[in-house]
Amino acid sequence: MRPPANANDPWAGRRAAYELLRRSRPSTDGYEAMATNRYPADDAAGEIYLLHFSERTTQGRQHYLGWSRNAEARLAQHRSGRGAGETKKAVAEGLRLTQAQTWKGTPLLERRLKEWSRKGWKGFAGICPLCSKEDALPPDLASALGPPSLRVRHQHAA
Ligand SMILES: [Zn+2]
Repeated sequence: MRPPANANDPWAGRRAAYELLRRSRPSTDGYEAMATNRYPADDAAGEIYLLHFSERTTQGRQHYLGWSRNAEARLAQHRSGRGAGETKKAVAEGLRLTQAQTWKGTPLLERRLKEWSRKGWKGFAGICPLCSKEDALPPDLASALGPPSLRVRHQHAA
């Protein structure tokens, strides 16, 4: 009688150990979803969004600028503490996250906006409708970004 097919398989033990390790890990759905969005193409279509925190974090941050294919879904992730490090900290400190602005745009444009905001003394507050009544964007960025989606809604909110 022939032995079972895997009896002499030198890798069977290793595969079994790997399978056990794989199963012992928590669900990776969320992580994989993030991982696939981690390095989007520079010209990927999506939304650039600005989050405003109800107070400053202990690190003095009150805004977060991000890009996502789906800003609403991403906001839910941020609010649940599964977003970026800065929003995670804000949530842990009990702060509320408000989506203050969105623009249609690419990851490249988001980086340009981030770089520009870092140079100014106002930072992201200068482009946040909840913090600033002026739209401080330079003309080239303003035309590249197109009209902000929430201009009307927040016009009198501050
Ligand atoms: Zn703000």
